[in-house]
Amino acid sequence: MTIIEDQDHLMGTVFLRFYEELNDFLPEAMQKQWIEREFKEGTTLKAVIEELGIPHTEVDLVLVNSDSEEFSYRLKPGDRVSIYPVFESLDIRGFSRVRPVPLRQVMFVLDVHLGKLTKYLRILGFDSLYSNDYTDDEIALISKRDHRAILTRDRGLLKRKIITHGYCIRSKDPDSQLKEVISRFDLMHAFHPFTLCLVCNRVLITVEKAAVSGIVPERVAKYYSEFKKCPSCNKIYWKGSHWVSMEKRLKKLHFNRSKWDSHLHD
Ligand SMILES: [Zn+2]
Repeated sequence: MTIIEDQDHLMGTVFLRFYEELNDFLPEAMQKQWIEREFKEGTTLKAVIEELGIPHTEVDLVLVNSDSEEFSYRLKPGDRVSIYPVFESLDIRGFSRVRPVPLRQVMFVLDVHLGKLTKYLRILGFDSLYSNDYTDDEIALISKRDHRAILTRDRGLLKRKIITHGYCIRSKDPDSQLKEVISRFDLMHAFHPFTLCLVCNRVLITVEKAAVSGIVPERVAKYYSEFKKCPSCNKIYWKGSHWVSMEKRLKKLHFNRSKWDSHLHD
């Protein structure tokens, strides 16, 4: 009986095609080709896209029969739907994107399994909230409250309706995760290393060398002249081993130093 009722509500068939890295979320048989889907009356673009396992936060532009439409658009029989990811080099000027306003200054809230990536982002000066006991609800609320982009490997979290900005990390390796985030959010020109506390995420304040002598190890006082302090936990920072290993990491990930070097001497 239920089956007959369901069939009564079927409105027809639509065709969907996902572009670029959105195909990462699809089984191979569905990748880079038109997918035929039956749909029920009232089905929205957001629903049909997420039924296929793609979080709406991964999507930047949806064209229905060549016109750009919002997530709330209700499908009509025979619609041809092209779905594009946030993709900097794709020229979509002239179409309105599904997301109303881009984030002006990107800030993050990270899921509980991304502690190491959090530290990397803080070393590079990106405001990143993290706690290893956040619940999914807390992460979603923090994202909405502060306009922070969510970073997670759990695509289910990104399907929540209140979330507008987020990215589903593909890699399990923290170095590759960093590379994904820098590329995805186009952060190459926005590094401000040595500005945030790696523990508290607070903005560091400059302190005189005289104020740290006797606190930092002697060899550090000898070789470094620039020091900063966290106003929350009082930890003292200098451009020592954290920064040296980050420079090596960026080099290994093939980020061209000349593009961000100028920020190091602010
Ligand atoms: Zn601190």
